Amino acid sequence: MSSAEKLRNLPAVDEVLRSPQLSEEFLSQPRPQLVEWIRNAIARCRGELLNGKDLTSDEALRYVIEETGRQQRQENGRCQQAVINATGILLHTNLGRAPMADSAISRMRESSGYANVEMNLTSGKRSGRGERACRLLQQLAGAEDAVVVNNCAAATMLVLQAVASEREVIVSRGQLVEIGGGYRLPEVFAASGATLKEVGTTNRTYLRDYENAISEQTGAIIRVHRSNFYQGGFVTEPDIADLVALGKERNVPVIDDLGSGCMTDLSQYGLQEPTVPGSVQAGADLTLFSGDKLFGGPQAGIIVGTSEFVEPLRRNPMMRALRVDKVTLAAIAATAEIHLSGRATEELPLLQMMSRSAESIHETAQRVHGEIRVPPGAQLQVVECISEVGGGSVPGSSIPGYGLQLTGTDSELMAKLLRSEAPAVLGRISDDTVILDLRTVAADQIPTLIVRLQAALDSAGVPS
Ligand SMILES: *Cc1c(COP(=O)(O)O)cnc(C)c1O
Repeated sequence: MSSAEKLRNLPAVDEVLRSPQLSEEFLSQPRPQLVEWIRNAIARCRGELLNGKDLTSDEALRYVIEETGRQQRQENGRCQQAVINATGILLHTNLGRAPMADSAISRMRESSGYANVEMNLTSGKRSGRGERACRLLQQLAGAEDAVVVNNCAAATMLVLQAVASEREVIVSRGQLVEIGGGYRLPEVFAASGATLKEVGTTNRTYLRDYENAISEQTGAIIRVHRSNFYQGGFVTEPDIADLVALGKERNVPVIDDLGSGCMTDLSQYGLQEPTVPGSVQAGADLTLFSGDKLFGGPQAGIIVGTSEFVEPLRRNPMMRALRVDKVTLAAIAATAEIHLSGRATEELPLLQMMSRSAESIHETAQRVHGEIRVPPGAQLQVVECISEVGGGSVPGSSIPGYGLQLTGTDSELMAKLLRSEAPAVLGRISDDTVILDLRTVAADQIPTLIVRLQAALDSAGVPS
């Protein structure tokens, strides 16, 4: 058969669309999307035919339908949706960092229609954008003023540009971090127009190193929190209070890029992390942190500090490009209220998870274990798990808890099955076993987790 004859067996797009083999669910997708998948599938089928494959028209149609389904499944995987985080990483960057509080979620919903984002309803007059959120953040941080931008990277850019454009910013060599996702401090400096003035060495930087680096060119001193790695051994660096004292003496502003945005002392959980109020109290002119790390809110960059430095940021031309929407402002305000009312441990999912005792997680793990029917050949065990904060916060943290370990199955296949239906359950694979850490699974997700785990086990087919 010539190539031209073979290609006659290729189905047309319309013919595929009329095929009774397509599911309702498939046909409910937007039309241009369906047509694109089908066209791609036909092109693939054409390639096969030209490569010498022989397919009757029925076989070609079946090939195209199968290939179309494969493309749809790929696309489904891209579709942003709720997942169950059984990785044990509390702030998982790939899973959207901090899960938000119920009150923040309902305030976001309320604000998604018309909302008085720039209007005071009592006076009927125009107000500053997100005034309420900023006032709450001021109170929470103990600072004179606050502004909110898109994320902490934007906050760093804005602040460096405003305070130190075309001037030098002094930073310790031990703090020139890469946060991940291509965010490297030296590049942020370059993009903001500030010049990096590195001082000290990787492991030891003294106050006198900063002092010696101050000149006519100096625009600011910055301290960058080592969010995602830690140093031990022969290390030293001045603390923020020492930098502030030096800055005051030499009239140089001090910026504290905290990143993680810890609001309270976490030592009760065995974690050491500098806090936002601590930085403000130490006298930093500007303190920067993310909204979706330990603050437990939406993605945002929060800048708190003295009026002298914060107020001009509102009028900075970059501000318009970096500002956040009404929905984010609503969630920030709701989250700040929770912190201010002292209800963070009860109401912020992140702190709820962090504060759960290992015993209570152990009980949950045993309950789940008792409910699952394990097919012959596989074993499910309750095991100790070490969770971590993650997401560029509290480097090196380890929080002991419990989870479930599944052995005797094809772990890659099991992980895939656990991801294949909604809500996807994401665990981790270790030594060819699947581990589900239960610290990061909320109590109300446990029944769903049981259903999904059982379904995955039932369809896995355990090797004998
Ligand atoms: C995480 C982090 C950032 C970046 O914050 P985003 O909100 O992700 O943009 C900047 N600086 C430090 C120190 C951080 O930890």
